[in-house]
Formats: sequence, C-alpha cells, structure tokens
Amino acid sequence: MSLIKSISGIRGTIGGKTGDNLTPIDTVKFAAAYGTWLKNETGKAHLKVVVGRDARISGSMIQELTMNTLLGLGIDVIDLGLSTTPTVEIAVPLENADGGIILTASHNPKQWNALKLLNSKGEFLDGEAGLKILKIAEDESIEFATVDDLGNISKIEDYIDRHIEEVLKLKLVDAEKVKKANLKVVVDAVNSTGGIAIPSLLKKMGVEVVELYCEPNGHFPHNPEPLKEHLTDICELVKKEKADFGIVVDPDVDRLAFIDETGEMFGEEYTLVACADYVLSRTPGNTVSNLSSSRALRDITKKHNGTYEASAVGEVNVVELMKANNAVIGGEGNGGIIYPESHYGRDSLVGSALFLTYLAESGKKVSELRKEYPSYFMSKNKIELTPGLDVDGILKAVEKKHSSEEISTVDGVKIDFPENWVHLRKSNTEPIIRIYTEAKSQKEADELAQKMIQEIKDIIS
Ligand code: MG
Repeated sequence: MSLIKSISGIRGTIGGKTGDNLTPIDTVKFAAAYGTWLKNETGKAHLKVVVGRDARISGSMIQELTMNTLLGLGIDVIDLGLSTTPTVEIAVPLENADGGIILTASHNPKQWNALKLLNSKGEFLDGEAGLKILKIAEDESIEFATVDDLGNISKIEDYIDRHIEEVLKLKLVDAEKVKKANLKVVVDAVNSTGGIAIPSLLKKMGVEVVELYCEPNGHFPHNPEPLKEHLTDICELVKKEKADFGIVVDPDVDRLAFIDETGEMFGEEYTLVACADYVLSRTPGNTVSNLSSSRALRDITKKHNGTYEASAVGEVNVVELMKANNAVIGGEGNGGIIYPESHYGRDSLVGSALFLTYLAESGKKVSELRKEYPSYFMSKNKIELTPGLDVDGILKAVEKKHSSEEISTVDGVKIDFPENWVHLRKSNTEPIIRIYTEAKSQKEADELAQKMIQEIKDIIS
C-alpha cells in the first residue's frame, strides 16, 4: 500500500489507512489543496474546472469526491465522466476553464488511482505549482465556501466525440485517404476509456475495427503498461484476423504502441519516431524527447534537417523544451506523442490518426515502415544501493570518469558515446539508480549496462 505525493500530483492505492493510501480523506484534502491554489493563483471569484476519469474501478468514487470538494470551495465543475487524459487537456481551453483534473493512475494496475492536475491551458502543472499545492495540503490552509457560494456541476457527455472532431480537423490527418486504404486494425484498450475513443476515431476514418478489451469497465485483462510482455493476446489476434496492424493504449490513452501485421511489436520507442518522420516530411522543423528516449528520433530529425534536443524525464519538461525549441513534434519514447498543432500533451488519438494517414499515404506494410528506421535496442536495469549512500556523489564520479564524452547532467547523468548511450538516474522514492542503455544490438545494450553497473560498484567500494 502506498501514497506518493510529488510535484506532479498525488498517486496511491485504494483502501487502507489514511495518509498511507489514496483514501477518500486524502483525495478530498488534495483536491481542496488544488482548488485553493487555483483561487490564490488567479484571484478570481468564479472558477471553472474540467474533471474527467479513466475507467478504473475506483474512478467514480474518486471523481465524486474530487468534484464535490471543488463545489465546496465554490468552484464550478464541468464533469466529462468517462474520458481520457488528452480529452480533458483539450477541453480545458475549449471550455474556457481555469484548470482540469484527470482521475487516472495511467499505466499502473487497478489498485492505483491518482489526481493529475492541469493549468488553464490544459497542460500539466510545473514543479513550482506542484510544490505550492503540496504545501497547502500539508498546512491544511483551506477555506470552504458558504452556502450561497457553492459551485455547480454541469455534465458534458460527448467530449470524446468533440476530441475526435478536433483530431480530424488537423491538416496532416486525412480521413479520406485512410478510408481509401481499406485498413483493418485490432485495438487493445485494457478495458478502459481508450475502448470508447480509439474504435470511434478509427471508424470515423473508415477503418475496419476489431475490438479486443474495449469494454470500459476497469477490469484490466493484463498489466496495463503497453510493454511487449503484456501484449501477447493482441499480437496473436492481429495475425489471426489478418489485420494491417494493432493499436494498444494505456488506461488514460496518453501512451500508444503498435503491433505490425506479423504480430511483432513495432516497438514503443518507434511510435514517436514514425509519427515524427511523417510530420517532419510535411512540416520540417525541430523535435524534442526526453533523455531516456531512443536516439532514432535524433537520426530521423537530422535526416529532415531539423534540430533534436533532449529534456529531463517528465512530460512537463518535454513540453517546456518543445516550446523553447519551437518543436513541430515531440514526446516520450514510451509511446507519448505530443503534437503542438493540436495541443501540448501526449495524445494517442492524435498519434493514431497521424500514423494511419502516414500508412495510407505510403502504401507500405507496417513491418516495411519499421525497417526503414535505424534499429536501436534498449536495456533497462537498476542497481540497488545501501540506504544512506551518497547517490549524487556516485553520479558525479561517473560524470568525472567520462568527462571527455558528450555528457548531459540535466537529469541524472546521460553519456552519449558515438555508437550508444547510457542514462543514469536516481530514484526519489527508493535507494536505487536506474540504468538505461541503448545500442545497435540487444547484446551491446546489455553489455554496456553491465559495464556501468560494475563502474558504479567500483566507485562505491
Ligand atoms: Mg498514461
């Protein structure tokens, strides 16, 4: 059981003791802190906040608690009900709201839930705002509204459709072209709200849809993180159905992965690479992803004569650097597509529509498309440390040892060797260092990771 309070929101398990889990009391406290922060920040008498949730079992309970807390603060609520993270993100500015809350624990299993917090642009709050909210929750410096000033709820039940309309309006999305390609696609949405959004989008683009786990009942049929080891069912079904490819999304629909027509993973890292290749071919420019994402995006960006930059891990950091760099597309290697032409948030509807248009235009099979991209392999490891060790000191020592290489210390230590890279990050919650490596073969990536683990052990001893 756990409750993780961080600057990007509060996430915890359902049930158990207050303060150790995301109990109703913790939910109310944190929702009240967010509402209070919003009041302090804007100084406005009348505020409006959009609230939506994914389909997890605790969703309705957590959403009701959140909404009623906001009403108690005198804040009006627009209730989107079952929704997706990107849907709430686009609804905030479209509804002229002052903020947004999505109730979802993203790719985490069913016992988890969380409050993801948005600003008036429908973008994730930055660290400074997050800290202020944590402080308000800690001090319980919250003042509720009197009876004449309570907020009101209005429901909008078709926001996913409105979101789809926004996606179809994008210049680089061509539903007519996709229709003519007669594509058949299998969709695995782990029985969350992607099961509403993705099939509906695909049908509007003239795609034949085979639904697998598209019932939004929150009973996840497999671990909801879209990784190869969790996706055997859809890989089988794509082959059996002789589909053109498969689409997998996580419970709140901000992570997107594809399965090729042979039932093989397209590779979560390559969702962004393929979408970027298409976008850059039409609108040349710069790209951004985080330091732990594949180098393939850098290569593709260079091919289109753009500049690639890497940010610290975390969506808010990617977005910040995208703005600074005027990026035309960016995101995260974990299947997060951010396309500013639509909005600054990871959006699997946008990603699916761009990929479908690209596929229809190219006339290629998904496996053929994948072969056009530089092949990189990652190895993700961690090293457990004795609690109390000076982790920053260890990272500094690694940095010093490799000072002649291309190094970034924006977030941990990233060393870019000519043929491969390694990214070391400390965890804020556990005594571990995460070690991600990428190379031209799996063996090389694994060996590089082992070499770094040995280096760290040598530094400690
Ligand atoms: Mg997610």
